[in-house]
Amino acid sequence: MKIAFIGLGNMGSPMALNLHQAGYSVQAFDLSRPACDRLAAAGVPIAADAAASVQGAQIVISMLPASRHVEALFLGDGTRAGLLPLLAAGTLVIDCSTIAAAAARKVADAAHARGVLFIDAPVSGGTGGAVAGSLTFMVGGDAAALERARPVLEKMGANIFHAGGVGAGQTAKICNNMLLGILMAGTSEAIVLGVANGLDPKVLSEIMRRSSGGNWALEKYNPMPGVMQTAPAAKGYTGGFGTDLMLKDLGLAQESATAVQAATPLGGLARSLYAAHSLAGNGALDFSSIICMLQKR
Ligand code: NAD
Repeated sequence: MKIAFIGLGNMGSPMALNLHQAGYSVQAFDLSRPACDRLAAAGVPIAADAAASVQGAQIVISMLPASRHVEALFLGDGTRAGLLPLLAAGTLVIDCSTIAAAAARKVADAAHARGVLFIDAPVSGGTGGAVAGSLTFMVGGDAAALERARPVLEKMGANIFHAGGVGAGQTAKICNNMLLGILMAGTSEAIVLGVANGLDPKVLSEIMRRSSGGNWALEKYNPMPGVMQTAPAAKGYTGGFGTDLMLKDLGLAQESATAVQAATPLGGLARSLYAAHSLAGNGALDFSSIICMLQKR
């Protein structure tokens, strides 16, 4: 089985590597040369361009930053032709990027018009989950298309949920990430308060982790440097989930809330916090660096 994998960033690179190591014939591509070189060094074949990567592929996986990148890749834009006309009928597209549900539906409609199957399959679990192959997939699309994708998704993830029709995976993902953005800011606030009152952040984090404040940030992604050696905080907030990507997701959540007139006051506040953090020059840092905004300098 040939799989084209497009988008070899913090997430796509380990996901493509897991498929390669599972024995699939992966043809990978990224616009960034260094990203291609890193994966080539791990033994994964790199295609000359996106069009070459999909040649003969039965499955095409994309892992790109935002809606506009996914739309441009498959539908084309002013500068580049889209990939859809190059795909044989029956090809399955699995978009793992976090994008607007409406954008997923737009690409899916164009794909279906050509006999190409499409599912949105955004992920949760961070770069650690991508490396370990333990991601959670939230899938939107036909059950039959999901069943075709399942063996491939199982090589990259541990939990696969069918959220509903096309776009439903994206809706589940932005609900999850709105909560994640809020809980990371709240966890940061609590740790900073404790430390300012003389507590050891490791001791405080462990107390909260095992108490009613316990959450994913305290389990796997502590924002305070020195508490957790595997978290981006231990690496100068590099290599994780960028502040600008979190800001994008919180924006998608607010757009979605506006469309259905939902009240999401904490999601709105979280979006403003990450926007201010980004404007201060921290957009490329991992989103857990939001704690720095709350600390005394
Ligand atoms: P990233 O910025 O590290 O990587 C994105 C890659 O896409 C880059 O290498 C870029 O060069 C490439 N790219 C952009 N347009 C392209 C195109 N047309 N053709 C080929 N390559 C192209 O981002 P990431 O952290 O890997 O995240 C990817 C997606 O996954 C985002 O939608 C993000 O919101 C989501 N996500 C990220 C995490 C995380 O922890 N990093 C977790 C869950 C979901």
